[in-house]
Amino acid sequence: MNVFSHPEFDDHEHLSFFSDPETGLRAIVAIHNTTRGPALGGCRMFPYATDEEALRDVLRLSRGMTYKSALANLDLGGGKSVIIGNPREHKTEALMEAMGRCLEQLGGHYIAAEDSGTSVPDLQVMGRQTGHVAGVQSRPGFDGETSNGDPSPVTAYGAFVGIQAAVKHQLGSDSLEGLTVAVQGVGNVGFRLARHLRDAGARLWVHDIHQANMDRAVDELGATAVDGDEILYLPVDVLAPCAMGAVLNDQSIDGLHARIVAGAANNQLARPEHDAMLHERGVLYAPDFVINAGGIIDVFHERKGSEPAEVRRHVESIGETLTEIFARSARDGLPTGTIANQLAEERFRNTVR
Ligand code: NAD
Repeated sequence: MNVFSHPEFDDHEHLSFFSDPETGLRAIVAIHNTTRGPALGGCRMFPYATDEEALRDVLRLSRGMTYKSALANLDLGGGKSVIIGNPREHKTEALMEAMGRCLEQLGGHYIAAEDSGTSVPDLQVMGRQTGHVAGVQSRPGFDGETSNGDPSPVTAYGAFVGIQAAVKHQLGSDSLEGLTVAVQGVGNVGFRLARHLRDAGARLWVHDIHQANMDRAVDELGATAVDGDEILYLPVDVLAPCAMGAVLNDQSIDGLHARIVAGAANNQLARPEHDAMLHERGVLYAPDFVINAGGIIDVFHERKGSEPAEVRRHVESIGETLTEIFARSARDGLPTGTIANQLAEERFRNTVR
């Protein structure tokens, strides 16, 4: 297994491989860049088939966090950790505590948050052994509700603000009244985003593979339910992917009628070149790692002990960053994802600490 010559290595600052035979813990922590501050990123637990697969995932995700945090103007670097194992079968308190001890050894250069396969209670168990965990406190949320560490409400609000910025740029409107939006996936984030949109006067179409979630959006938000992938091809103003990744691919981009794609799902582009395909077709794409940064912004402020109003203001800056990206994209004739990467690199390479 190559490490320094791995295609995803990208000058990572630090990689740690941890093993604890007593609990069965096998984990990798990747710290990509700490120029802006300690590396913060999720701790994922997944039954990777090979060590190589785990390494590839952690390197790719860790680098992504450097870009995401820089674009969110956070004093944080990028990192990620993976625990190799099936969360349904192998997750025990002892294993999570062992992971906490590993994080403690890193002395705060990496801070773990929840990710797929781990939950807030898991992070709290790790937190018995280390202070380097985030998203674990119950506190007043940005919206006046009590936040229990679930990032979905703040992610949904950030996506809503991002849609407002995209509508302003692409359609020249300050209002979402009468805007038509197709939401793919009305789970934790998608439902809340849809509710913000409904409250702002938008008309909604939704699809979710989970019938109960779709019914809730129809009953509570007056949305129109749509079958399967049809949701991607509706002649609406905005398509908001809030389910899974790789939804923007050769096939779907050809069939899009929406003028804006702006949603919370991670890794929406199946391949990097799909950024350019969207640009060529005149579709305004809000890069996912910019528009869905509400969660990491919230976690940052949890550690800082900020007031809810400060968190809200910071989440709203997602709109300003997107506006800058859209303007530069129009000025330079380059796709929005390319511009977002350039802007992130300016921010994390030029920071002097
Ligand atoms: P969730 O599991 O609560 O919701 C996802 C919803 O999508 C579910 O209702 C599921 O049934 C539905 N779904 C899955 N496949 C689908 C398909 N093919 N078509 C239609 N619906 C489908 O997850 P979530 O927390 O709402 O996250 C949604 C997306 O946003 C994910 O990509 C996640 O990685 C990303 N994201 C979430 C957060 C957060 O704060 N939760 C932060 C950043 C990014």
